[in-house]
Amino acid sequence: MLNIVLFGPPGAGKGTQSGLIIEKYGLIHLSTGDILRSEIANGTQLGLEAKRLMDEGLLVPDAVVVGMIATKIEANPGAKGFIFDGFPRTIAQAQALDEMLQEKGTGIACMVSLVVPEDELRKRLLLRGQETGRSDDNEETITRRIKEYLDKTTPVAGYYESKGKLHSIKGVGSVNEIFDGICEVLNAQGGA
Ligand code: ADP
Repeated sequence: MLNIVLFGPPGAGKGTQSGLIIEKYGLIHLSTGDILRSEIANGTQLGLEAKRLMDEGLLVPDAVVVGMIATKIEANPGAKGFIFDGFPRTIAQAQALDEMLQEKGTGIACMVSLVVPEDELRKRLLLRGQETGRSDDNEETITRRIKEYLDKTTPVAGYYESKGKLHSIKGVGSVNEIFDGICEVLNAQGGA
């Protein structure tokens, strides 16, 4: 299997690049943000509780997202591999993911980290808010999300770095230029 973590702050372009990666490499895309938004759209209890936190720009509890990911992994037994987008976002989530994959006799091949300066992130997220009406893409919530990212999520890059699995890529430029950088990393993992 080829399992990769696509990492980066809110607005780094993880969703956009995931679409290109799944098409080229035949991987299954697991975005905890997307799964949570579909829970909200379906009006589930979990969605209701998550929405409150998401609209405040705070992380939802580890147990919730870990459970969601476990369910998705179980639901795709024949997968060539997974691309994890927006997960893991804490060290506890990273450890839980390693355990889940280890039980399946596999693991994370690498983390691809998209590096984008904060002023560019804010610009992109505000524009997305105007274009899509996404409720957490407003000035106040963006500030909270970036703070959560810096406080709780950046250590996750160190977790993979210590295992020699971190690959940082410049996340500014054209979508295709950035994708080429990602492909170089994935091809070196035997993804081609
Ligand atoms: P972005 O990366 O632009 O913030 P996401 O769609 O990945 O967008 O996440 C939106 C929100 O969903 C986050 O602000 C957080 O509240 C929640 N969320 C998504 N993934 C996780 C996760 N792995 N752990 C905790 N909360 C999460």
